[in-house]
Amino acid sequence: MKDEKQELLMEKIVSLAKRRGFVFQGSEIYGGLAGTWDYGPRGVALKNNIKNLWWRMFVESRDDMYAVDAAILMNEKVWKASGHTGAGFTDPVVICNKCKNRFRGDNVKFKKDDDGKISERVWICEKCGTENDFETKQFNLMFETKVGAEGTIKSYLRPETAQGIFVNFKNIVDSMNPKLPFGIAQIGKAFRNEIAPRDFVFRTREFEQMEIEYFVKEDTWEDHFNEWLGRMYSWMEAIGLQKKDIHELDVPESDRAHYSKKTVDFEFDFPFGRKELYGLAYRTDFDLKNHTEHSGESLTYFDNEAKEHLTPHVIEPTFGVDRTVLAVLTSAYTEDELGGSVSADSGEPKEKRVYLAFKPSIAPVKAAVFPLLKNKPELVAKAREVYTELKKHVPQVMFDDNGNVGKRYRRQDEIGTPVTIVADFQTLDDDTVTMRDRDTGEQERLSINEAISKIKDASMLG
Ligand code: ATP
Repeated sequence: MKDEKQELLMEKIVSLAKRRGFVFQGSEIYGGLAGTWDYGPRGVALKNNIKNLWWRMFVESRDDMYAVDAAILMNEKVWKASGHTGAGFTDPVVICNKCKNRFRGDNVKFKKDDDGKISERVWICEKCGTENDFETKQFNLMFETKVGAEGTIKSYLRPETAQGIFVNFKNIVDSMNPKLPFGIAQIGKAFRNEIAPRDFVFRTREFEQMEIEYFVKEDTWEDHFNEWLGRMYSWMEAIGLQKKDIHELDVPESDRAHYSKKTVDFEFDFPFGRKELYGLAYRTDFDLKNHTEHSGESLTYFDNEAKEHLTPHVIEPTFGVDRTVLAVLTSAYTEDELGGSVSADSGEPKEKRVYLAFKPSIAPVKAAVFPLLKNKPELVAKAREVYTELKKHVPQVMFDDNGNVGKRYRRQDEIGTPVTIVADFQTLDDDTVTMRDRDTGEQERLSINEAISKIKDASMLG
């Protein structure tokens, strides 16, 4: 059942995202293109911060992780070997014979009795109301394209980043001599011709993934699987998601991807319902074995202890960047009324406000610097000086002297800036500034240097 409050929340998030330069509809001036979204300045910064934090946590801070950035276009044979061109990567589609609209087969509506129960499985078209006149098909989600001037070479826009990792397994083993267990990580775009893109950036036709293929010995897969479960929770905590909004789903065999022997989905309470945010899959040796068979290259690892060649098994933690952005926006969106903690001379009105309670590490702007009054050149100059010094240490900061201070605070609250610095008359005398906390509205006075080091410490990536 649809919850009106949640629907309204979604509308508010989409509207704020547009108003404040996070996310715009793709090709908007031409009426859009379904399933595409463009990120604006704040969205790019948020997404980059998320990706950088992920990279730091899962790649740079570890000794067992190797990076790749594989081409989006790959040899057609890759997708035969991986099973994507066959039945493995299709979604059922239901097509109404009357209006010809298409619906995701796992999401179709059945006719209900007056008391709301499905009595008979009569399919009813959501668009034109036609009953039980439809056909079903399996629809492959890959975007096909042609390569070269002759257009004779078939290729696909990759539907997952994972295969770019598997085809480089041998290159990494030969060039880097990794010791098992080890992982190969990649962040990049993936494309799926989704039958029904919807729910803002949740289900799009072009999106970004952060993926790891972690190669292990077969008999250790369960331990590694559990360790990755824990690491994924640490990640979600690091970006500010709350445990109460996250739910593990042990995916039953009938719903698992063709390559998986065990999958746990991390579902998140989005405003439109509980849906998959991330996945953790045990892919066995499915991919390496299949690529060995199809390419003729041996994709094995020489185990020095056992003195034998083995095909590693794979644990795959996968993270959608765009779904992360939406989960983070949903968690951070807050409405409140600032209370009496605001001092009389701060210029901050007591009123309802909206703010994004981003963790400083992912906030697109870490701090904003204002002059108390914009018509006092000496205050503006001092604020600029503070801003210039701060920017040397923390690049994601901004200067704002537009409108009155109250309006500037509201703007910063809406983009989730953790703190704002105001240069006032006292700053001219003693080089102290006021620093206002986004969540409480409380202010403290401290030296410029103290303010800079506080902002720097808080903004450090995890
Ligand atoms: P769903 O069941 O929601 O279609 P999936 O199980 O097919 O998702 P995976 O193949 O496991 O998704 O993809 C890995 C991750 O990529 C997902 O956990 C999700 O975060 C992200 N993702 C997948 N499809 C989309 C999409 N169409 N738009 C945005 N992100 C996506």
